[in-house]
Amino acid sequence: MKIGRWLIAGAVVAVVLWKADDIIGTDKQQSAAPPAATETAVAPPAESAVSSDAGNDAGESASPTPTDSAETEAPTGDAEASDTPSATPSTTPEAPASTPDASDEADNSNGSESLDALLQLNAPDKTVKVGKNGIATVTNSDSMLVLVNKKRELSSTYAPDDLVKPNVAFSFSGDSPKQKMRKTAAKALEQLFAGAKEDGITLKAVSGYRSYATQKSIFTRNADLKGEEVANRTSARPGQSEHQTGLAMDVSSASANYELEPKFGDTKEGKWLAAHCAEYGFIIRFLEGQEDVTGYSYEPWHVRYVGKEAAKQVMKEGVTLEAYLEAATKA
Ligand SMILES: [Zn+2]
Repeated sequence: MKIGRWLIAGAVVAVVLWKADDIIGTDKQQSAAPPAATETAVAPPAESAVSSDAGNDAGESASPTPTDSAETEAPTGDAEASDTPSATPSTTPEAPASTPDASDEADNSNGSESLDALLQLNAPDKTVKVGKNGIATVTNSDSMLVLVNKKRELSSTYAPDDLVKPNVAFSFSGDSPKQKMRKTAAKALEQLFAGAKEDGITLKAVSGYRSYATQKSIFTRNADLKGEEVANRTSARPGQSEHQTGLAMDVSSASANYELEPKFGDTKEGKWLAAHCAEYGFIIRFLEGQEDVTGYSYEPWHVRYVGKEAAKQVMKEGVTLEAYLEAATKA
């Protein structure tokens, strides 16, 4: 608790100094401009790889993105991932100063209380609306605890309004919308990748945000190839993909050829991911042997952001998000 107070005190001092610096203008160079975005280092779009993105995970694993491994070593480089958190001085200073007196205990209990409250707000039976067409649409699309599956769809018009590109290494070069995640999830992914790196684990991001329209074209293509029923065993219909939330990212490694296949779960990177993702607020969304609950087969590469506290509970209990939300909101 003392350390917490010192940290808060330190943060307050830092804020004061930062503000003072700003007012007095002692160091003009420092206050001049925030560091330039590192994203400009990204290579120009190579070989319109977009068309090869089979889409929903199962779809992707059926026909893995042909990411030429030579290219994946390109610019977004690992070195940049953790060291340049694109410091934005305008946002950081205010936060710590606002609650200088809160003790750690208070923080914790507040955290749990707010998680409980959040869980109640996101109870599965209270966050769905069945339309005249019989389709159940979620009413909490923007929540970190939104539950999307074959029985609970996102609206065709829903798109997150805070999508950003996380500063992590990707398995492909060039810019693509699928690099994006919602801001909070993107920051958490950066920390996850940095944590992995500290443990000698190199992960690469493969596929994140996917719009309703993109999912639709992917599903249609798969259905044309395999028939609708077969396609839906492995690939999501539009509105039913968690990737539309902007809270999911598919992750893989060189050891798995950057493919989205169950074998990733057997690699040391896949094992690290399962063991540590919760520390950063992520869960392995589609567990082995839980197909009848989640609607999808085991996907050790698909992580979903739910926030640290909920993630730790989900992963510790080894349950699906469906079961967790169901139980936690009925307690
Ligand atoms: Zn996925």
